[in-house]
This record gives sequence, C-alpha cells and structure tokens, in this order.
Amino acid sequence: MVTSDESSLLGIKTLESESAVLEPNSQERYRLLQAAIAYVEELLADCGNLPAYTAPMEGPSVPSPSESGVALERILALLRESVDRVGVQQKSGGHLGYLAGGGLFSSAIAGFLAESSNRFSGRFASAPGAVRIENEVTRWLAEIVGYPDTATGNLTSGGSAANLNAIVTAREAMLGEDEVLSEAVIYKTDQSHHCIARALKIAGLVRCPQRSVPVDNLLRMDPQALEKQLVEDRAAGLRPWLIIGTAGTTNSGAIDPLGDLSKLSHEYDCWLHVDAAYGGCFMLCEEIRDRLAGLEEADSIVLDPHKGLFLPYGIGALLVRDGELLEQAFGFEASYLDEPPRSCSKERSPCDLSFELSRPFRGLRVWFPLLLHGLRPVRAALSEKLMLARWLYDELASVDGVELYSQPELTTVLFRLHGSSATQEQTNRELLRSIHLDGRVFPSSTRIHGEFWLRTAILSHHTHLEHVRVLCDSVRNAVRK
Ligand SMILES: *Cc1c(COP(=O)(O)O)cnc(C)c1O
Repeated sequence: MVTSDESSLLGIKTLESESAVLEPNSQERYRLLQAAIAYVEELLADCGNLPAYTAPMEGPSVPSPSESGVALERILALLRESVDRVGVQQKSGGHLGYLAGGGLFSSAIAGFLAESSNRFSGRFASAPGAVRIENEVTRWLAEIVGYPDTATGNLTSGGSAANLNAIVTAREAMLGEDEVLSEAVIYKTDQSHHCIARALKIAGLVRCPQRSVPVDNLLRMDPQALEKQLVEDRAAGLRPWLIIGTAGTTNSGAIDPLGDLSKLSHEYDCWLHVDAAYGGCFMLCEEIRDRLAGLEEADSIVLDPHKGLFLPYGIGALLVRDGELLEQAFGFEASYLDEPPRSCSKERSPCDLSFELSRPFRGLRVWFPLLLHGLRPVRAALSEKLMLARWLYDELASVDGVELYSQPELTTVLFRLHGSSATQEQTNRELLRSIHLDGRVFPSSTRIHGEFWLRTAILSHHTHLEHVRVLCDSVRNAVRK
C-alpha cells in the first residue's frame, strides 16, 4: 500500500523532473550559448551598414507560450524575421533619427554576465561587490560632471525614471507637509523633454503653477526672462521653488545657460534640476566643457548612459549634489529586509536611492565596458560625433535651397528644404519619406514653435562620416529634383 506520505513524495519528484529543463546541464547550456553566439555573429556582422530602416511587412505573428516548448532554431528564426530585421535599426550607423547610443557589444556581454549570476544589486548586504560597482559608477559619473564628494547617484532604467526620481527628491527637500501647492511655482521651457511634465504629474505636482520661460533664438532658456518671472511671482506672494534646465534639448541639442540658472536658483532659493540626459556625457570632451559650465552647480542632474556612453537601452542615471537628500527622499525600512549580521556597510544601497527594490545589476553594464576599453575611445567617439554634426552643418549650408536652424551646440542638426510656406512642410515630409524608403539612413523630424524641420541626431558609436555623407547626398539629390 502506498501511504499518503509516499505519494506526495512521489508527486514532488515528478514535478521536479518535469521542471528539470529550467536548470540546463553543462552540455545543454553550451548548446544554447553556441546558438546564441552564431545568431549574434550573424546579426552584428557588418552591422554598421545595415539598412537604417526597413518598413514593417505583414510578418509572421508572434506565438504565445503554450504548454510545450518550441525549438530553439524556430525561436531564433522568429527573432530574426519579426524583430531584428524590421523597423528602425539601432545597430545601423545610418540611424540618425533619435538619440540612441548604438549599444556597445561589451555592455551586452556584461548584461549576460550580470544576469547569469543574477546577483541582487539592490542592497549592500545581499551583494556587497555588486553594490560597490553600482556606487563606483555613480561616483565616477558625479566626478565627470564636477560634483563634490557629497554627491550620490542611482542608476535607473533611463532618463525618464531618473527625472522622476529627481523631481521627487526636489519635492521632498523643498516642500513642507502643508505647502500650498498652488503657490509653489516651477520654471521650465517649452523645450524640456515631455518626461518632465509627466514626472511632475506622477509626483503629484500638477497643482503647482508652471511657468514656460521664454527661450532665445537658439531655444535656450532666457535668464533675464526667468528673473523677471521670479521677481513677479515673489511680488505676487508666490513661492518659486524649482527651476528645471536642460543641457542638450532633445529637439535641437540646445544647452540652457547653466551658470545663470544656478545663480538665479541660489538668489531665489530654488532647487535647480538639470536634465542632461543628452548633453551630460559630453563632459568627457574637453572641447565642449565650457559650454556646460555651471552643470556642477545644479542640485540634481540626470544623465543617460544609454545615449551618451553608447550603452544598450536600460541605463539612466540620477546624481544629487547632496546625497543625503536623495536617501531622505527614498530610504525606507521593512521588517523583512533586516540587515544580515556583520554587514559593515558604509556604502549606500541602491534600494534606498530610488523607488525600485529588485533591479537589474545595471552598474556592471556601465563599469565593464569602461574598464575593458578605457575612457579614451569613448571620448574619441563623442568628439567624433560633435565633429560629424559640424561637418554636416557646413555641408548642408553649402547646398542652395537648404535652410539650417542653427549651428549645432551638440550633435543635432535641424534643416529643411526651402519652399513657399504653403508647400514647405509637404515638400519636406516627402523628402523624409523618400530617405526612409531608401533605408540607408534614417533622420527624423520635429516641430519648432509650430514649424516642421528635419532632424538629424548623431549619437551612435556606429555612425561615421560615410553615413552622414549618404544623408548629404540624399538631400543634394532632392534639391536637384
Ligand atoms: C532621451 C531624453 C529623456 C528621456 O530619457 P529616456 O532614457 O528615453 O527615458 C529625457 N530628457 C532628455 C533631454 C532626453 O534627451
């Protein structure tokens, strides 16, 4: 007779063997790795010259998981057809549309290493070495922007999350429990990224009056207009508390006058947050550091290493000048997170510096490539992008019939074909469409104060002179027609 004890043991063992594939043995791991390596090799061979855009076709639909597994070859084939060969190709050097960094291969390897060991990088007590790497990376970023030792940072999923955390930190540091929000004024421009408006909404600050400070003809916040508004608001009995500047706007790469903003933020007792998701990593380039002067005076700064350090998506960074304030905004205790004995930490834990608890080990994806390659090639690639943007500007300026918005401050060039105002947008939309259909390069478009412009954002380590040249030739051809 089988006792109930025996039958439940049998049941447990049956389930164990049914789930055994979740723990592949060495031979099986090797098979998976080999297939993945072959796939990646095929994907990345000559990836700089992949079409920058492939119009999506009616492809095979993506199957949903069912009870039994699907052959690896079939899954990789689906990935190839449905994912990696359609749409905007981030791995192509011709991708000039959005501020994507191209995704360093070495960082993908770091991601694989991080996820293979699956260390819990949220708390020092769980993975002290991983947290030291996280903290070393944010210390290094803080040093680059010129912050003092008091600064602390946190790696987030991207610039949007980092900006949200920045605004929450500012709110906690600046606004009291019974602050009258309708009197607490926020200053930004119409060029700030839309994630700022979203962050203000999520942080419960929509009742704060928001001033859209006028910009100059290069789309930079006008500091005199800012001061005038600050004076008026104070006189009206309101309380200015938050100024949000941008170091490298998404639209045009404009850099707000950070020194003036920081002076005004001191004078009017405001928190200065600078969204440097685009421009911040250019602090690595000597030739542009002057333009970014004053960044180090901000109370908080957002960088986006998945843009400016060419990393794969999923890595933004928030830096806060007075690190205590970041921890005060996010630090929490929970009974189930008791410190294990003998944790001797002076290191801050990422889970006390953000709304996230469980998180990927992002630090490794930054630290590993920088250690492996050293900083010199990264600086070189950034300087190359700055020069490419200037080169593109000069080339297009020499084409009759092409209008440029302004000299690039960073690596974004806005241009359009001349035309009568009635047809100009149409003409330029057609040009954009024909370049997209050709597929070798992929610029994008935007609106500046209502007007349509073509937009070239050069920020991938795969983008070189030959790609920018293709764009110039396409524009020249279009003009000839
Ligand atoms: C890209 C960008 C963001 C948003 O960052 P994500 O990483 O895409 O979330 C915010 N601000 C600026 C200036 C940006 O360029």
